[in-house]
Amino acid sequence: MMAAKTNPHQIKESRIKLLDSVKRVVIKIGSGVLTKANGLNVAVINNLTKDICCLIEDGVEVIIVSSGAIAAGLKKIGLSKRPQSISQQQAMAAIGQSTLMIAYEKAFQQHRKQKIAQILITRDDLTHRRRYLNARNTLLTLLSWNIVPIINENDTVVVDEIKFGDNDNLSAMITNLSEAQLLINLTNIDGLFDMDPRENENAVLIDVVEKIDHKVTKYASSIPGFLGTGGMTSKIKAARKVALAGVPTIIANGLRPDIIKLIFSGESEGTLFLPEKVTLCRRKHWIAFTKYPKGEILIDSGAEKAIIDNGKNLLPSGIKDVKGRFSRGDSVVLLNENLNKIAIGMVNYHSSAIKKIMGLNSDMIHSKLGFKDNDEVIHRANLILTDKIEKEMMDVT
Ligand code: GLU
Repeated sequence: MMAAKTNPHQIKESRIKLLDSVKRVVIKIGSGVLTKANGLNVAVINNLTKDICCLIEDGVEVIIVSSGAIAAGLKKIGLSKRPQSISQQQAMAAIGQSTLMIAYEKAFQQHRKQKIAQILITRDDLTHRRRYLNARNTLLTLLSWNIVPIINENDTVVVDEIKFGDNDNLSAMITNLSEAQLLINLTNIDGLFDMDPRENENAVLIDVVEKIDHKVTKYASSIPGFLGTGGMTSKIKAARKVALAGVPTIIANGLRPDIIKLIFSGESEGTLFLPEKVTLCRRKHWIAFTKYPKGEILIDSGAEKAIIDNGKNLLPSGIKDVKGRFSRGDSVVLLNENLNKIAIGMVNYHSSAIKKIMGLNSDMIHSKLGFKDNDEVIHRANLILTDKIEKEMMDVT
């Protein structure tokens, strides 16, 4: 559901109300904003850091998720396009990351000698609850010391399986982890349009998205990205994840001078994505989106009904099959008899143990396994139904 034409006065008032409550913000800055033909765009970095320092002076805590390492690496060694091979892209990120941080250091030094910290992280780091909480503690400590964390994916060690995929996704995870009240995603176009504005001069900028529905995802798919990244689609997916945690997103043009200042003055910059009314608690959000499913469990129609209609636990008796190898504490997808994905949940047993107890009553678990941790294979508190997060959101990027 969208509001393309709304009274500008009303928009400003509702934006100001929303922004007034923001005490912590995640600002994601894309490669297309940070780089230009011959390397990093220092003028833009200066402009953004100046606005960020003003925000900090106003009492807002800021976490930056910054791309630009690969793009900076390319420019540094004189390549014009992103190499195909993963290892070369990883090498490029390693070359560019220090350049990127030096640029931020210099820019932040100019404004109130603001100190910064570099955090390189992988999705795998955040899928383990303890490491997730450690990352969170580090972030919160930095913020309490008035230091701006600058986060990027640790490209050196990631392979597809443990990748966020893109920094849009990473910024959504960090928004959830840090309990920020707003995600600002700065890119090189003005926001979400109904078609690609770089090719259609009649493209209309959407002011506010009340709900991310199929129309919105269709608009996004017509706007591809820069240097091979996710484009508008990955930004919308990130906005949806954040909306499900009850947090709004603003996608705006980071190349526009004073953009952060304009956004915080309530100007109608970019596209505002409102939060969902019914949201997932942080733990469920983490199970559904930060952890990636390691396998699948096929359940019978009785268990499907008990889970969907009556909010019950998943017991061994309702399980028909198990696919993949996973451990206690991993996330898995639940499939019904028609092989439709109906939920994501965090399991209490290893896949090999579930294979031994599937179809049995819970009181047989001990005699079959020689131990019993829980009656249920997945507790309802760790189950997220697909209709809550919508089918396409389950295809974790
Ligand atoms: N981590 C990559 C970089 O710093 C960017 C990935 C992305 O922009 O999505 O270049």
